Amino acid sequence: MPSTKEERREALKAVYHQAKDCAQCPQLAATRTTVVFGNGNADADLMFVGEAPGANEDKQGLPFVGQAGKLLDTLLGEIGMARPDVFVCNTLKCRPPGNRDPHPAEIEACQEYLLRQVELIQPRVICTLGNFATKLLRGDPTGITRLHGREEVRVIGRRAVRLYPIFHPAAALYTPANVEVLRTDFARLPELLALDPPPQPEPAEDAVVPVGGEDEDSPRATPEPEPDADERELQPVGPQPPAQLGLF
Ligand code: URA
Repeated sequence: MPSTKEERREALKAVYHQAKDCAQCPQLAATRTTVVFGNGNADADLMFVGEAPGANEDKQGLPFVGQAGKLLDTLLGEIGMARPDVFVCNTLKCRPPGNRDPHPAEIEACQEYLLRQVELIQPRVICTLGNFATKLLRGDPTGITRLHGREEVRVIGRRAVRLYPIFHPAAALYTPANVEVLRTDFARLPELLALDPPPQPEPAEDAVVPVGGEDEDSPRATPEPEPDADERELQPVGPQPPAQLGLF
């Protein structure tokens, strides 16, 4: 298991290189333009997990670059943060055609990438945006309307984190009253980030913990990272849009 910040970042790049040609979901692989792995700070204390890329994200290869992303940026700005401070990704890394809901088999197939991201970025707080991410990471069907704004310590794969479900920003685009709910929930993030990190489970080599599991003694077995990535992708120059890994 990589331990330094640099080792974790290298391992994250290797996971990105695994994911970018993923063909586990035949329909998504056939219809997507890009695998949207996620971007931001590879050592962030705060990670956002949305649902799935939409049309803009699929085109640009970056998460939350459309209207919902603009709202996310505004709300982050209101608490004194910006995208380079956080890591943003999705439950599914590929756009479902026509923006349909993710299928359970797709969520299952994609979850290993998300678990590796959590394991390698080591956020203190994971903010799930909407129902899909919340249900997956809690391992429970309780919906976002009941859960939003309530943090809890959860073991996600191998990491204990403060899980903090909030509404998906797209929900606020359709129902403006939800903007205020989101704003209120966002306002608690600085306080959650200032708490001591939750104690981590004991490392164990060969047991498996389901997503959202609370068994702190038997973390998941995970594959070794692939060899190194191509550094050129990590150095976007000039005013071009950032590459997926540009902010890692
Ligand atoms: N909605 C999401 O859930 N994710 C994105 O990246 C964009 C919109």
